Amino acid sequence: MKRKILIWILGISYVFLFLWAFAPIRQTIKLSVLSMFGAARSKFSSVPEDIYLSSFQPTPELVPVSVTEPARPKFDVIEFHGHLFADRFGGPPEDLAAQMQKGGIKYFIDLALFTSTLKEYQKLVEKTHQDNVIHFVGFNWKHLREAKTDDFGVGMAKDLEEIAKAGVRGVKLWKNFGLIEKTPDGKLLAMDDPRLDPVWDVCAKYKLLVAIHTADPPAFFRPVNQFNERFDELGRRPEWSFDSPDLPKLDEILAQRERLFKRRKDVTFVALHFGELAHNLKRAASLLDTNPNVSLDIAQRIDELGRQPFAAREFLIKYQDRILFGTDGLPDYKKIKIYWRFLETSDEYFDYYPAGGNRKGVWKIYGVHLPDPVLKKIYYTNAARLLRLK
Ligand SMILES: [Zn+2]
Repeated sequence: MKRKILIWILGISYVFLFLWAFAPIRQTIKLSVLSMFGAARSKFSSVPEDIYLSSFQPTPELVPVSVTEPARPKFDVIEFHGHLFADRFGGPPEDLAAQMQKGGIKYFIDLALFTSTLKEYQKLVEKTHQDNVIHFVGFNWKHLREAKTDDFGVGMAKDLEEIAKAGVRGVKLWKNFGLIEKTPDGKLLAMDDPRLDPVWDVCAKYKLLVAIHTADPPAFFRPVNQFNERFDELGRRPEWSFDSPDLPKLDEILAQRERLFKRRKDVTFVALHFGELAHNLKRAASLLDTNPNVSLDIAQRIDELGRQPFAAREFLIKYQDRILFGTDGLPDYKKIKIYWRFLETSDEYFDYYPAGGNRKGVWKIYGVHLPDPVLKKIYYTNAARLLRLK
């Protein structure tokens, strides 16, 4: 008899444990027990115990005091971080001029990094003959990838010089440094590698403005797990993660960049995406303080700036001559509107991405309501000065 009871108890516990593994059942049992003691209103509830992060799209109950989404920017804009992708995926959009006008864009800087020979440059200009579209070009990495000796910089310099003579105003560089390209000895190419000096010499000689995207936000260098605040984004784009023992750490890549900025004071740089320091304004300030040849753009970083609006506002005012406007991509009214809202208004707690777009992490931003003279510089004057435009 005792044995029978024991078997029954064991059997029931087993079934109970099995059922406990299912969240909805667990939830119902919890609520039933609580309601027995009068601590829950109903034992029937539709509250799920857990949901997927990707499906977590909470609707704020906040009723903001001001919602002042601007329909136009207060002043003319130079889109410093544009991409027409015309050197990669066919031609520019047919309605480019109309889209630029809608976005208040007077000049569009096309950072065409896949264009790296005179022939390619001429083709690109032919495809997009619009006076207010200015193309930047990339370095010709072919010389490095096919190099057997250490003189790869010479071929790269020659190609760039030909384009410079044809009138290009700037160079766009990407994450190739420190993370992608390898030198003939099989090591990752550091940005301050002296073998690249011939190319920097061309940049200095022809006063080419060097727009450089270095590394990525720190979260991309950390393990992609529940502690990573950009899990949303990295889960969607796992190829953006640089958390690998084979790759240098973020600080090492930024140190290479800093050494280059100091060594090549004769070259003017724009560290794109706020120099990857929008999350750390103290460090961004020190970068600008110690490198007078460097400016920053805000492309794709209003998410970081807008979640620390007090410090960001102070920073943008203090360094008002060193910040350029950019959104990264084609003229996109839905996206660019959010940048205006961030820079011009004191709106609170809004999304840094268009409705239905992709978030980087689960947070919202606040406007920094910059004074008009500062706005003018960020929207237009700073880029115009660096590019020698009217
Ligand atoms: Zn870009």
